[in-house]
Amino acid sequence: MHPTLVNLVYLAAAVLFILGIKGLARPRTAVQGNLLSAVGMLLAVLVTLLDKQIVRYEYIVAGVLLGSAIGTTMAIKVRMTAMPQMVALLNGFGGGASLAVALAEYVARMGEAPAAMGNPFGPGAVGMVALAAIGLTALIGGVTLTGSLVAFAKLQELLKKDRSLPGGTWANGLVAAVAVLAVAGLVLDPNQGELLLAVTLLALVLGFGLVLPIGGADMPVVIALLNSYSGLAAAMAGFILGNMVLIVAGSLVGTSGLILTRIMCAAMNRSLPNVLFGKMAEGAEAIDADAIYAGKVKSASPEEVAMMLETAKRVMIVPGYGMAMAQAQHAVRELMDTLEARGCEVLFAIHPVAGRMPGHMNVLLAEAEVPYEKLLEMERANPLFEETDVAIVIGANDVTNPMAREDKGSPIYGMPILNVDRAKTVVVIKRSLSPGFAGLPNPLFARDNTYMVFGDGKKAVLDMVAALESAS
Ligand code: NDP
Repeated sequence: MHPTLVNLVYLAAAVLFILGIKGLARPRTAVQGNLLSAVGMLLAVLVTLLDKQIVRYEYIVAGVLLGSAIGTTMAIKVRMTAMPQMVALLNGFGGGASLAVALAEYVARMGEAPAAMGNPFGPGAVGMVALAAIGLTALIGGVTLTGSLVAFAKLQELLKKDRSLPGGTWANGLVAAVAVLAVAGLVLDPNQGELLLAVTLLALVLGFGLVLPIGGADMPVVIALLNSYSGLAAAMAGFILGNMVLIVAGSLVGTSGLILTRIMCAAMNRSLPNVLFGKMAEGAEAIDADAIYAGKVKSASPEEVAMMLETAKRVMIVPGYGMAMAQAQHAVRELMDTLEARGCEVLFAIHPVAGRMPGHMNVLLAEAEVPYEKLLEMERANPLFEETDVAIVIGANDVTNPMAREDKGSPIYGMPILNVDRAKTVVVIKRSLSPGFAGLPNPLFARDNTYMVFGDGKKAVLDMVAALESAS
């Protein structure tokens, strides 16, 4: 194919990626955005296949068929609540693919033109840039691969403890420094294949070392960061292959992952170094839940809550991970319809890290066709709680924990929360007094104005709807 045509199609693909990301910013345009990006990727793949002088298509076709079959099965089978794990796994595969490209390209080029005949990656600076790209792709791709596997294992609860490798942060720093030196050595002498092997092994160890100690409520930031790393690794692989569209797509993933990381850190009021090297969950065990709850927790039945709701003028619904677990979004929508039919204003307060992935609550509520305008971000929702008659917290815990605001010694002190405790009455629907993701007790449950409804989220909400309907 003519190079100008190839580049024009690549440009069209890049524009489609950007329009796709723009579409993903709103639930209403998200499906279309996803489709645009997918079409962009299809164009890029097809043109790349036509452009390169491919000798045998069998392996490529077999790979595409196998990958598509696995991807389709995963997309259909994986439950919404397990989506963060799936994202972690896909980030890891992205990093692994870039690592494989780096290793394959090194072996192939060294085989084609032995280094004795000069640098097989090109003369002077060109060769050095290509070698640096190979080394850095192996480094970032390797870290992304094992780091993402650890993140997957943690979210899947296969790994429950947060522990450092021997030497902790210092050892990680040392491993990273030695890996960078090995990349530099490779750039100076392409013959030193063992240096690339060392970079790869060190990167794989570093991925474990960096993510193993991080846990609890910091996992969303880690996933966003690993997503960014997988993009960086792909962009680097683009430099190795001289493939424009890979550079563009990788950079888009890299930067959007970084922006998301920043947003997540802000939502938890933490700096990135503190998330990566600090220990947020430390101290959780020292807090005595019994002392907080003893004799102070009141429970109510769904029917009693329905009576409170009968006279409410404004109700704020605060969803969390438990709503996803209970698949209660349609029941919540029914509650909204029933209350609105009685003249009550119903709004939703959405915390940026509610659930287990960014936008988790928005996606579920959009699926149940709750109008997007009703979903208030934390900054807009918080001032309204004081004028809210009933705040209904459904399966949310950490994102409503007043310790974050009031208890300087608490591990989550400083994390912005939804101030549900300031509503006139608070109803918390969950199955028990168990802690949420951060492992902390929640003093909200013991407040004078709080009533606990113990039970499954969906059933409790449907019982409230039934009680309200039979009252009217
Ligand atoms: P939490 O994890 O704090 O709490 C969820 C609560 O839901 C639990 O306490 C549980 O209590 C309850 N629950 C579980 N199943 C049900 C059910 N079937 N019916 C009713 N309740 C149920 O959730 P939040 O959304 O408040 O906070 C999210 C946490 O996850 C934060 O710490 C955040 O940092 C972290 N996180 C966020 C990610 C993101 O990107 N959004 C990603 C990864 C982690 P019980 O067992 O008693 O029912």
